[in-house]
Amino acid sequence: MCRHLGWLGEPVSVASLVLDPPDALLVQSYSPRLQKHGTMNADGWGAGFFDAGTPRRWRSAAPLWGDASFASVAPALRSGCVVAAVRSATVGMPIEPSASAPFTDGQWLLSHNGVVDRSVLPLSSAAESTVDSALLAALIFDRGLDALGDTIVEVGTADPNARLNIIAANGSRLLGTTWGDTLSILRRDDGVVLASEPYDDDPRWEEVPDRHLVDVSGASVELIALKGSS
Ligand code: GLN
Repeated sequence: MCRHLGWLGEPVSVASLVLDPPDALLVQSYSPRLQKHGTMNADGWGAGFFDAGTPRRWRSAAPLWGDASFASVAPALRSGCVVAAVRSATVGMPIEPSASAPFTDGQWLLSHNGVVDRSVLPLSSAAESTVDSALLAALIFDRGLDALGDTIVEVGTADPNARLNIIAANGSRLLGTTWGDTLSILRRDDGVVLASEPYDDDPRWEEVPDRHLVDVSGASVELIALKGSS
């Protein structure tokens, strides 16, 4: 499983979310605290952010800890909406920059933490890679993000072994799902963080129960149980 993070709030530097905290994605790439599937996230990384409404991405198939260029530039990248991930590739999946989250349709940035049987997903010429996450992202984009919860339930029903943990954002809205892995929310004074695991020991981190959708816009954070959840 990968580790991922989303931010919606005041403009902050990408480094302040991804690199600087004591247990940021940078540290989670070699020493995650809560990861159940896999021990390292060394198969690539991606940092996406909105720049005046336009999604921009920097992705790689190499470990985040080795990227001195990103470490040098990330403090200067500022945004009010960020989606970033470090990747532990599922066996058999390609390792290439286009297989690293976040994926985009030009409006949304989306990361998938988990695994899904590709045979339950439609083939899509819009998918950026043959990795399961890219096919899932193409389906979610096709159905529209307003239907994210329904799409997750549908795919989770078609593949009962799937783990479908999503973080997606479009600059003004941040969405997350839990389906087989952890997700935590941090409500800061300047915005909201969603992350597979807390990046520090701030007591304000809250855990999201499994099989839920989190919908963040502005300061409002809504938690919705997904159909079929117990
Ligand atoms: N299945 C996806 C991949 O291979 C995501 C893996 C993960 O969550 N570790 O990239």
